[in-house]
Amino acid sequence: MGARAGIVVTGTEVLTGRVTDRNGPWLAEELRRFGVDVAHVLIVGDRREDLRSALRFLAGTGVDLVITSGGLGPTADDLTGEVVGEIQQRPAELDVALEHRIHAIVTALMSRRGWLVDPAATAAGVRKQALVPLGAAVLEPVGTAPGLVVPVADGQGGPPIVVLPGPPAELQGMWPAVLADPIVQAALSGREEVRQRTLRMWNTPESELAATLRTLEPGLGGLEITTCLRGGELEIVTRFGAPEQTAYDDLATALQSAYPDTLFSYDGRTVDDMVADALAREHLTIATAESCTAGLLAGRLTERAGSSEWVLGGLVVYSNAAKRDLAGVPEELLERVGAVSAEVAAALAEGARSRLGADVGVGITGIAGPGGGTAEKPVGLVHLCVAGPSGQLPRTIVLPGSRTDVRTRSVTLAMHMLRELLVGSQ
Ligand code: ATP
Ligand code: MG
Repeated sequence: MGARAGIVVTGTEVLTGRVTDRNGPWLAEELRRFGVDVAHVLIVGDRREDLRSALRFLAGTGVDLVITSGGLGPTADDLTGEVVGEIQQRPAELDVALEHRIHAIVTALMSRRGWLVDPAATAAGVRKQALVPLGAAVLEPVGTAPGLVVPVADGQGGPPIVVLPGPPAELQGMWPAVLADPIVQAALSGREEVRQRTLRMWNTPESELAATLRTLEPGLGGLEITTCLRGGELEIVTRFGAPEQTAYDDLATALQSAYPDTLFSYDGRTVDDMVADALAREHLTIATAESCTAGLLAGRLTERAGSSEWVLGGLVVYSNAAKRDLAGVPEELLERVGAVSAEVAAALAEGARSRLGADVGVGITGIAGPGGGTAEKPVGLVHLCVAGPSGQLPRTIVLPGSRTDVRTRSVTLAMHMLRELLVGSQ
């Protein structure tokens, strides 16, 4: 097996979920790209004993390297450097030159922000951040806090520990220095390329895919396959070493022939990527008229930079009057079939097209709930229509779940309808 690493994310705000961990996933992906498999990501609060236990646990798993994030600041709850020094049995010493460098950064920062802080308090904080375990390498600060690479004391067994700051931009900025560090490179000398490929399917039950994978079983030996169902999409992520490339290609081909209509992405591209690429490539413009999703589709279409090239605008038409006045849905149609109907979805799509002068229009109307459903038109009933130069693609569906589920699933469905219209069923 190649090199493996463990990660400890520190911070009570991350442990409690007030802040979503962005460092664990980022480090895990960077390590994979560097040829290192991640064995564990542990999250601990700002508590000395919990951090100690996490570091001891990881050392016991036999990983080649441990990386920590957070707890490098000047305040009392920032204790990572100190605990790591203790675990590695390397007492801390003040690095006077580093103290001066941090002091210069901190005073420049304070004067830029116009902060007046007691110089003695600043000096104490800086001094704390300049304490370096004996024999550790210093990674120059990207913000104010330096990082550390702390090998275990001579004669003791255990992985080196890389100590990185918590703010994601600082941690990411320090990463090239981590990879260039000689202690890190020696620890990861056993690294091997770990490839990762993603296939995406739409509208296929996970159980059906599981059955297909069972039939392919004998050939899947060296492949680590994870399937994840998210909002109606199945994501199949496979990790493997370079020698397993042929086994992976065979798997991808077998799935392609088993699911010609629903396996829509072979190269990891998302439905959003595919729709954006198709609109850009064909020089087509798009506009929306949304009732129950009230702008969520327009929001999703404009999430990516550069979308102003193809998104002209979106109409939020919640009331009948708005559908009539803004999207041009005939009053007579609204009265005859009701706002939640396939006919109105089509009229919204065409209304968006003509009112905004777009090539492609999308109309969505439905009952997001939890109230407002009837036997004939239950909660979750959604009519969608995508209209383009080559014709209309209508769809009617009853979606399960909460109001939020119905609205977000409707938007995802609209994205897939756009993909079908613009790219074809593949
Ligand atoms: P500081 O000098 O800012 O105190 P630090 O290295 O001590 O830096 P922390 O105190 O752990 O880092 O975190 C500072 C802030 O960085 C947190 O309040 C949070 O906003 C952000 N942060 C820390 N860890 C994470 C994480 N794992 N994911 C996302 N954001 C994080
Ligand atoms: Mg802190």
